[in-house]
This record gives sequence, C-alpha cells and structure tokens, in this order.
Amino acid sequence: MFKAILIQKDEAGYRAGVQMLDEAQLPAADVTVRVSHSTLNYKDGLALTGKSPVVRQFPMVPGIDLVGTVEHSEHPAYKPGDAVLLNGWGVGEVHWGGLAQKARLRGDWLIPLPPAFTPQQAMAIGTAGYTAMLCVLALERHGVKPSDGEVVVTGAAGGVGSVAVAVLAKLGYTVVAVTGRPADAEYLKHLGAAEVLDRAAFASPGKPLGKERWAGAVDVVGSHVLANLCATTKYRGVVTACGLAAGMDLPATVAPFILRGVTLVGIDSVMCPRADRLQAWERLARDLDLAKLGEIGREVGLADALSLASQLLAGQVRGRIVGDGTRWTQETAMSAHPQAAPVSRFPVPALADLPEDIRARILAVQEKSGFIPNVFLTLAHRPDEFRAFFAYHDALMDKPGKLTKAEREMIVVATSAANQCQYCVIAHGAILRIRAKNPLMADQIATNYRKADITPQQKAMLDFAMKVSQSAHLVGEADFEQLRAHGFTEDDIWDMAAISAFFGMSNRMANVTNMRPNAEFYALGR
Ligand code: NDP
Repeated sequence: MFKAILIQKDEAGYRAGVQMLDEAQLPAADVTVRVSHSTLNYKDGLALTGKSPVVRQFPMVPGIDLVGTVEHSEHPAYKPGDAVLLNGWGVGEVHWGGLAQKARLRGDWLIPLPPAFTPQQAMAIGTAGYTAMLCVLALERHGVKPSDGEVVVTGAAGGVGSVAVAVLAKLGYTVVAVTGRPADAEYLKHLGAAEVLDRAAFASPGKPLGKERWAGAVDVVGSHVLANLCATTKYRGVVTACGLAAGMDLPATVAPFILRGVTLVGIDSVMCPRADRLQAWERLARDLDLAKLGEIGREVGLADALSLASQLLAGQVRGRIVGDGTRWTQETAMSAHPQAAPVSRFPVPALADLPEDIRARILAVQEKSGFIPNVFLTLAHRPDEFRAFFAYHDALMDKPGKLTKAEREMIVVATSAANQCQYCVIAHGAILRIRAKNPLMADQIATNYRKADITPQQKAMLDFAMKVSQSAHLVGEADFEQLRAHGFTEDDIWDMAAISAFFGMSNRMANVTNMRPNAEFYALGR
C-alpha cells in the first residue's frame, strides 16, 4: 500500500484527498519509482482545485513532477536504485503522477536526476524552473544577448518567474521583474532583478505599438500583459510565451511582428523532446545559483499540496513549493499506527468555509511555519472561542516582561506534561527548543524539570507554575516570598500563574478533543 492524493470526479462531484492505494492500482508502465519529492506547479493547482479541465481521466493522482528511486524496471536504461527525474509528458493529467509515494512511469519519460542537484533542489526547480530555462534557451537561440538591453519577466514572484529572474541575472542580462506583489520587490532584487515594476501597468488594454523597451521577454501571464509586452519590445526583439496566469486570450495586433520584426516564441515543457530537456537541466546546473534556489524553494509535506493549491492559483505563493515525500512517509507511518487518530474528535472545518479573519490568521501561520498546527484547525470549530483563545494566548506569550519567551514555553511544557497533554508537550516542546536554541531542554523539562539543565530561578518559576497547575488551592504567601527571593515581581508571578492556568484549560480541551500533534513538531529545533 502507498499514500497518494487522488482526484475523483463522479456524481458526488470533483474532489481531491489523501488515500491509501494498492500498488496493483498503479497504471501499466515499465518503471516503478518510489517518490522522494514532488512539487506544486500552477497546473497541479488547477488539477487539485478543478478550476480548469487539466485532468482528463479519473481517478487521477496529480503531480506533473517527481524525483525518486527506481524500485522495479523493465526498461533497459534504468535499474533498481537509480535516482530519476520526471517532468510533464501528461503525467498528473492523463497518467498517475507525483503527488504520491509511488508512481509507475514509462522509462522513456524519465531522465537521470542531474548530479548537480539534490532531490529537493530538483523539485524546487521542477517543471516551472525547467520551463524558465526553456525560455532562456529560446531567447539565446533567437540571438538575444545581455548587451541588447533589458529583458522583462512577468509573474516574477511565481515559480517560472523566480527561476527566470535568477538565471537571466546570473547570465548578465539586465532583468526587469513585473509582479502583482510589490511587497516582494526585495526578494526579486535579491534574485537579481535590476528593477521591479507593478503588474497593474501592463494589465489593461494598450496601444498596438508603444515605446520600444525590451530586448527580450519571458511571459507567464498571457492576455493583455503579453500583448503589451509585444507592443513594447524593441526592433527584432524576442518574446517567449509559456503561461496563462492572467488568461488564455491574446488581445494583440500584428503590428509588433510586421513593423518591428518581433518574434513571439511559444514554449511547451510537457512534450518537449528529450534532448532539449537534457540541455535545459544541464544549463540549470550551470546557470542557476544554488544559493538563490534555496530562497526560491520552500519545503512542505507532500499532502500539504491540498491546502496550498488555492493559494497558488490566487498568486499568493512566492517561489516554489517542494513536497517532501519522506516527510509524508513519516506522517503516513504515524497515521497508520493503531493509536493514531484524526486531527480532532470534533468536525474540522475546511479553510474555505472559515470566517475571513480566522482564515487569514491560519494562512499567516502556515506561511510562517510551513504547516498548519492542528490546534488552529481544531479550535476553528468554534470561531468565537478560537478568537478569544488566541487573543488570550498572545497576550500571555507575546507580552514583554521579565520572563523570556523561552521561559514562558518552559512553563507550558512542564505543566502540560503534568496534565498529560500530548499535543501541548510535543508542540510547545518544539517551540521551546527553537526559542531557547537548545535541543535538549524541552525533553528534560517534560520528563522531570527538577533534573533539567536550567537555572535555580527557572526551577523556582516552574515549582510555582506546577503548583498553580496541580494544586492552586494550596498557593499562599510563602510561595510569593520564595519567588520574590529569586527576584520575581508581582507582575512576573501573575504571568506564571496565568500561563499555567491558561494552558491548564488548553490541556484539557486538547485531551477532550483528542487533538493530535502535527508530525512536523517532533523534528523541529532538534
Ligand atoms: P505560479 O503560480 O508559481 O506563478 C504564477 C505567477 O503569475 C504568480 O506568482 C503571479 O506572479 C502571476 N499571476 C498570478 N495570477 C495573475 C493574474 N491574474 N494576472 C497576472 N499575473 C498573475 O505558477 P508557475 O510559475 O508554476 O506557472 C506560471 C504559468 O506558466 C502558469 O500559467 C502555468 O500554467 C504556465 N506554465 C507553462 C508551462 C509550459 O510548458 N508552457 C510549464 C510551466 C508553467 P506575481 O505575484 O509576481 O505577479
């Protein structure tokens, strides 16, 4: 059995979800691959949401890219253990794809994983990056040189755009990045853009011909943007068109082509011949700065593709999302464990159904940490209480004061362990490791804070917090005296008591809802 995202379309409607599948269900082909990484492309976003008829056979495992290891091969070029890479060829559209732990593919579609890249790096590039390189190769093939002038890249903060900006800049071109997210200007300049322009200036119908500016263009957007680029491209300049993020239409005139000799080059990555693919990947190995790639790619669990697809289509995802199949495997192993359970015993609302403020908060957390901690999903069941809970949480945990953020987390870990709250010990243990920059402390405190490598003052703080948690009715003046002797003020003591009491409530709700810690927490900060 293996885990996969499966898209189904029947009387119950169009839907995508994680399912356990049998290897016997894999489509016929000559190479079976254990997928280590996949990625989320624009096309995958369309497939997962059903916003466009990308998927042409059901049920379908989406994922147009994958990297993995050959498990079984009847193809002469591959043997078990080979690291392979796949981009396109209709995989994820008409043939089961990469958002799964296993795939069965035609050996002719595969190429060896380029030795210059780790699986993660290859998927941070993925079809988007390889398409960006096909655009760059087309510009070169048509004679565009760095000395010819500016090259413009649209959709610049997206996957194709980010890689195109980085590669062109490294090759010495003067790159102008066009984006709908001016807030990402610094990111784009860091990738190598000389100038960042607002997409709004290109998005409305323009004149058949405008002032000549671009020697070359990489367009991922289509529609008026592409028409305006053609109209402002220099004499004999070259525009590469690979995308349709703004639309399939091209409301242009022939003026740029017949009066300025502009070349419009179409770029297709899906059926692109093998020789061109190999050339594109070779050039990526040479012309893409791996340090920049680190900034372009963000790694998530493979199943997180489900929740990120809509954000991607809304242009809210910067750079590239890499799905880590290994992390997913771990999650699978955990959820296949007999003690495993769903996120919560109570209904967990879909993100799309949440009030805007709650959804925004959850998306912000996801953006920051790369996953959605299950406490947010569990408590979203009761929106008013969700708001009150996090307002109180933030007031206590983000408040300035003598207690450091790490010390506040120590209280949470120690008292949550005493209350046998698995969720809070695992989740706040991770936060404590990060806040204290100490991989050992959280486990020490959770098992027995008295033996932890912490200061006498911190032990006194935890003694008191534990008393509040376990026997608040016994708290008296002597406790206050002891804390004062350690230099704590009345305000500090209130903080300790309030954190202990608040998490006492949280521990009880986590236990009652059967809230599960996300797998990601276990490894964080170690
Ligand atoms: P991403 O979602 O990563 O990036 C797309 C970017 O386009 C967004 O980040 C945004 O950039 C911009 N954008 C989004 N919506 C709009 C809009 N309504 N108007 C103008 N700009 C918009 O996708 P990819 O980079 O993976 O893919 C980009 C395009 O290229 C897609 O259309 C995809 O289908 C196509 N593609 C084609 C391939 C081929 O073989 N021809 C292969 C790979 C992709 P910003 O925020 O900077 O404005």
